[in-house]
Amino acid sequence: MIRRDFLKIAGAAAGAGALAGLAGCASTVPSKARVVVIGGGFGGATAAKYIRMWAPSVDVVLIERQSEFVSCPISNLVLAGYSTMQDITIGYDGLNRHGVQVVRDEAVGIDAAKKTVRLASGEDIGYERLVVSPGIDFNFGEVQGYEAAMQAGRVLHAWKAGPQTEALRRQLLDMRDGGVVVLSIPLAPYRCPPGPYERASMIAAYLKQAKPRSKLLVLDANPDVTSKGGLFKAAWKDLYPGILEYRGNAKAVGVDAATMTVKLEVEDVKGDVLNIVPPHRAGDIAQKAGLITTNNRWCDVDWRSMESTKVPGIHVLGDATLSAAAMPKSGSMANNHAKIAAAAIIETLNGRAPADPKILNTCYSFVSQKEAIRVSSVHQWDAVKGTLLTVPGSGGVSAARSEAEGTFAWNWARTIWADSLA
Ligand SMILES: Cc1cc2nc3c(=O)[nH]c(=O)nc-3n(C[C@H](O)[C@H](O)[C@H](O)COP(=O)(O)OP(=O)(O)OC[C@H]3O[C@@H](n4cnc5c(N)ncnc54)[C@H](O)[C@@H]3O)c2cc1C
Repeated sequence: MIRRDFLKIAGAAAGAGALAGLAGCASTVPSKARVVVIGGGFGGATAAKYIRMWAPSVDVVLIERQSEFVSCPISNLVLAGYSTMQDITIGYDGLNRHGVQVVRDEAVGIDAAKKTVRLASGEDIGYERLVVSPGIDFNFGEVQGYEAAMQAGRVLHAWKAGPQTEALRRQLLDMRDGGVVVLSIPLAPYRCPPGPYERASMIAAYLKQAKPRSKLLVLDANPDVTSKGGLFKAAWKDLYPGILEYRGNAKAVGVDAATMTVKLEVEDVKGDVLNIVPPHRAGDIAQKAGLITTNNRWCDVDWRSMESTKVPGIHVLGDATLSAAAMPKSGSMANNHAKIAAAAIIETLNGRAPADPKILNTCYSFVSQKEAIRVSSVHQWDAVKGTLLTVPGSGGVSAARSEAEGTFAWNWARTIWADSLA
């Protein structure tokens, strides 16, 4: 629902008082509790839906700048032609059906003292509790020349699914047989630890099938593959010999669009397609709202409620958080963070303390068109350490890549899309 329609409905349903409340007069006390959620990705959409499901009396307003949700999970398959943008694009109608008021706008500021969110359109929305799940933004400055090269259309990250996913697919299609694709991975932590290695597998699968004289050079700033390393390397050796070359400790520090050169600390590498994923940090709005606590990048939270340790009344979810030990930045985790926050917000609004959480992560990666591998882990509240810790003996990785895991991977994706948005 676009904001104009939302305002119309809010006005028609509740009269001018509700509209004034929505317009965020800090002095207007809402007739019932209102939770505002910034960001309709895995974290924010799930939080909005579950608050409405578990506490239908609470007003939930979701602010999202995009008209549709585009999923990063499965987007690597789009690059290889094994899936489409349509497959990974989902509207927000499902949330409307749960009574979530979806406002298409951008949150540009948060006044935590007045409890209001400022929208790009100039309006303020008042809240009793605020959820911030903006995902990531990039530290482009850490790769010299990146922004100019990206603006010139010569270098892409495609690390937020959407137009860059399509553009990277086009670059692969347009590349000559015999060309070199360079994929550069930043130092961890970044969103989706196995994601770059899945991408490497998908690009290699495409080259093997369509441009077999071409090469993929994977330049990893980390010393070694950071997730499911044994399984990825076995798949690359079996499936993509002579096509995929992996180099650890190879950090991109610059890019020259004119010569299509990636500058590493000790050498330069040329390519025909440059897919450089820059280092990440919490999304801009977290920075503007003063929620960042650590390394100028991430937002620390109380894991029992996802409430910011810095700004009371604001719950931060998903990739923007300072991850707990051994916790990946994943859609699976963001979806679970959202449920912790939804339950805790409802308990808090009722004057009760939230329960101690236990959550599960599962992350599938495709290594060929049909075969996938999996990693999973369970994280529970530890009262002594005051954080979430992995449950000893829980989780693990697939014994081997298989088509059965590929089927589970698709089922996982469809299930989490429905759980978050339908
Ligand atoms: C290639 C790739 C593959 C991946 N594969 C997997 C996988 O298989 N499994 C898995 O679990 N995870 C996977 N991930 C990771 C997963 O996509 C992220 O961890 C997840 O999206 C994080 O959810 P989030 O809510 O924190 O952020 P997002 O899902 O990015 O949502 C943030 C939303 O906030 C909106 N927003 C931001 N700022 C504002 C603002 N100021 N105003 C309004 N709206 C705003 C954005 O438009 C966006 O819709 C993958 C990631 C990539 C890049």
